[in-house]
Amino acid sequence: MTHNLPKLPYSPEALEPNISKKTIEFHYGKHHMTYVKKLNDLIKDTPFEEATLEEIILKAEGGIFNNGAQVWNHTFYWEGLSPNGGGEPGGKLLDSINGSFGSFGRFTEEFETAAATLFGSGWAWLVMNDKGKLEIVQTSNAGNPLRDGKKPILTCDVWEHAYYLDYQNRRPEYISSFLKVVNWKKAEERM
Ligand code: MN
Repeated sequence: MTHNLPKLPYSPEALEPNISKKTIEFHYGKHHMTYVKKLNDLIKDTPFEEATLEEIILKAEGGIFNNGAQVWNHTFYWEGLSPNGGGEPGGKLLDSINGSFGSFGRFTEEFETAAATLFGSGWAWLVMNDKGKLEIVQTSNAGNPLRDGKKPILTCDVWEHAYYLDYQNRRPEYISSFLKVVNWKKAEERM
């Protein structure tokens, strides 16, 4: 099958001033697009030619894994953001956050620390484990928690390309801005 770049669920300037139009144009329009193109080139004449992205994440190695997981991770990242996002979650997601971390404030601190301290390129995730409890995990490079049997709820891309144009080396500022545009309603739907 041919993988496609999914449509961005908002306009490129919609997340300003937290994430600029310029960052989205590069991050979505060039980086995400390049992962899609490379994946389509790499899977030709391999056992993964007809595989879904989830199958690729669970079974592939090397370049096919890296590009396939990056396609999935970025789509998940964009869909987890909204110009009307931020604030606090509600409903069962807030209940689970309170149950797993003590409070939304504690969750925020732990998530910001995980995203800020991940060395090099990767992703910080809010996931649900097989016991139905929420956890924060870090993955390096293209890593995805599905590979460890955990269900992704939210992710923050901390590759430099996600924030360098707007924040240069100030990753913690980007993480605070990210939390101002998180689509908590979408995150709750993913539980
Ligand atoms: Mn990225």
